[in-house]
Amino acid sequence: MGAALPAALLPGTATLGVLGGGQLGRMFVHAAQALGYRCIVLDPDAISPAGAVAEQHIQAGYLDSLGLARLARDCDAITTEFENVPAVALQTLAGMRVVAPAAASVAVCQDRAVEKAHFEAAGVPCAPHAVITSDVELAAVNPALLPGILKTSRMGYDGKGQVRVRTVAELATAWSDLKRVPCVLEQLLPLKAELSVLVARGADGQLVNYPVQQNLHRDGILAVTEVPAPDVPADVAAQAVAAARQVAQALNYVGVLCVEFFWLDDGRLVVNEMAPRPHNSGHWTMNGANVSQFELQVRALAGLPLPMPRQHSASVMLNLLGDLWFPPAGGPTTPAWSQVLALPGTHLHLYGKSEARPGRKMGHLNITAETPEAAHAVALQAAALLGLPGDF
Ligand code: ATP
Ligand code: MG
Repeated sequence: MGAALPAALLPGTATLGVLGGGQLGRMFVHAAQALGYRCIVLDPDAISPAGAVAEQHIQAGYLDSLGLARLARDCDAITTEFENVPAVALQTLAGMRVVAPAAASVAVCQDRAVEKAHFEAAGVPCAPHAVITSDVELAAVNPALLPGILKTSRMGYDGKGQVRVRTVAELATAWSDLKRVPCVLEQLLPLKAELSVLVARGADGQLVNYPVQQNLHRDGILAVTEVPAPDVPADVAAQAVAAARQVAQALNYVGVLCVEFFWLDDGRLVVNEMAPRPHNSGHWTMNGANVSQFELQVRALAGLPLPMPRQHSASVMLNLLGDLWFPPAGGPTTPAWSQVLALPGTHLHLYGKSEARPGRKMGHLNITAETPEAAHAVALQAAALLGLPGDF
């Protein structure tokens, strides 16, 4: 018998805390508030997307013990919106309050080498790779992994901390350019498509999932997600869903987890990485499913039931980066929202960031329709109006 589970925190009676004030925190807060929870966000910045909508914003660093103590004092349960929050912050809070996901789960996701070891232990194949932390390991790298991508083990996101290398010499240079921090060299794989699966798991072991999502990246940043995944046959989709559920189960995970996959030219499916939180590729669920990934995160944290989500509309999500505010011709502008919102089934979500910058995630546009073909056609029209590529 395991330890007794804490009683559910019922809507309207509790306060939920979030570490991190970015857009994921903001959308979590919106979902929590819709259910009647109060929210407190801890973020070091005076102005943040989530801090602006929460009932309270504690402006403190993630290792500030006074700030963490205040958060624990005033919240009934606490989550994180990003995986690079110091695991020790979550550990500290876990001594005082319900924390989900657990510090140990987040720690696995913070380190690519540990994460890959977890995938292998869970029986889910990942890309062929080698861990490089010393000259000895560098010299021992199997040349069959080249050409490859050298990735820092920690703190990478949106393709940052990654270098493509073709030869042993380039590998050595790249590792020294990365300041010889612990890295993982991954074989460069021929991708047919990139997929992801979101699951949500409760402390009682309930486990639910969304359908497989097909993701297009540009410059290492997610650009487009389509659900149903247009190119993915049912057996591959089933394999991805089973693998994601297995990964969550093996971690004894609590909360929303996103598992990202590479679908290879030869038809194999390998796992790339996972995120211990709602994910950019799941933003379509805000309009295309009967429960959003953010509501599931709230429910998992509060110990509420997790119903199996149902997709009710074919969906396309377009990420809106700051580049849209700086078209190639002319000066800074406001994107053509009126025209975009005149298209059927468009749902605009902006994150309330004060300033647009190239590459910065400013918002996303969800397109819902009765059929995948209709959603795709409207998404192409919206992309054209916004000056985004029509390469999907
Ligand atoms: P995220 O923002 O998703 O956390 P990240 O910085 O952790 O991004 P990865 O997901 O490892 O980066 O890689 C970013 C993108 O680079 C992938 O989505 C994929 O398009 C490409 N990529 C990464 N690894 C490989 C590989 N081994 N073979 C081919 N392409 C790859
Ligand atoms: Mg990724």
